[in-house]
Amino acid sequence: MGKASRRRTAGRELQGSARAAKDPAAQPAPFVARPFAGLPGETDWVALREVVPAATATIRFAPEAAPGDAPQTATVATVLPLAWSGLRRVDGEVMVGLQSGTTTGDAVEELSNARLLLAHEFTHVIQYGRGFPGNAEGVVLQPNWVNEAQATLAEEIVGDRVTGRARGRNYGYDVAFNTAETTDGDWYRGITLLAVYFGLSLESNPKHVPNAPEQCSFLGLAVEGNNGPCLNNDFVAYNTGYALLRWLSDQFGPVVPGGEKAIQRSIAGNRSVGLAAIASVTHVPVDTLLAQFAAALYVDDRVPGAAPRLTFSSWNLFDIDKNRINPTGRLAPRERAFSGFTDAVSVRGGSTAYFRVSGAGRAATAIRARDAGGGALPAAMRMWVVRLQ
Ligand SMILES: [Zn+2]
Repeated sequence: MGKASRRRTAGRELQGSARAAKDPAAQPAPFVARPFAGLPGETDWVALREVVPAATATIRFAPEAAPGDAPQTATVATVLPLAWSGLRRVDGEVMVGLQSGTTTGDAVEELSNARLLLAHEFTHVIQYGRGFPGNAEGVVLQPNWVNEAQATLAEEIVGDRVTGRARGRNYGYDVAFNTAETTDGDWYRGITLLAVYFGLSLESNPKHVPNAPEQCSFLGLAVEGNNGPCLNNDFVAYNTGYALLRWLSDQFGPVVPGGEKAIQRSIAGNRSVGLAAIASVTHVPVDTLLAQFAAALYVDDRVPGAAPRLTFSSWNLFDIDKNRINPTGRLAPRERAFSGFTDAVSVRGGSTAYFRVSGAGRAATAIRARDAGGGALPAAMRMWVVRLQ
């Protein structure tokens, strides 16, 4: 979706409409550079329209925009059957397809998305090639969330090659969202769509998804029973899983022989499954990895002088977070003062409940985490604390 290709498209369409001026029916649809401009979460709409494989969102028509006896809401889906642009179900539900059979008329744009999909899907070919049942090496096929996380990471890696970028450069919002539109393709949707895990809402009156991220998990797809409250649990698996792998590469790439490539190869060729495979590559216990990763999602570039382990060297997460157009996509810890407080939270596997405890002039303070019965936390849960100031 580069500016250059948009300009080419606009030029082509203007020529086309001059030729077709005598026949209004042959007129191409007018070119609109930013069809979602003005909507909250414009970039997320663009993602749904252009790159996201499968998602739905509900929209409500403005008052009196639809006749009183017509449905007042519609379901917007990325893709409808046969790539239709719309359908009405027998129960009256109206569905609109964003990625319909209608082409954009911009071959360059379509090609750039094709390259993105190729990077993604070719990773699956490698994964299935290594882990097919009965393979002689005893390699296990990783769970879907690992495979999708890796395929999403591949989009970024190939994107860097295409755009001449490199990792470890702490890119911010402008690169992540390609705001300068200097390159074709949305290569970095892994990092931008982390917003879904943080509580992104596309409602017309958006408010942060309650209990996100702690009740959303990246350890499974929706079809596998992941039914957390986040907008799209598959996005959480793809993109939060991606972020874990990105953090892993940032942290261990410089010290593991063979770097990022060796890490990813080792995961795709592993005999352990999921988090255990990831831990086996780094020789760091998985609870430590998950705690440091979770801390890094909030701490990175937000807290001066933070331990390097709690940062991403490739992305400036704070810059991305604070500049998001749709504020519901920002990581928002529960704010608590140092005076006494009690909270009950449930946390899904792999996820984290974030609290930010602040206040001035307070002596040493204790925070105690107990299970629902007042006992010690179950072995699968960890509490970690980062001093921010
Ligand atoms: Zn995939």
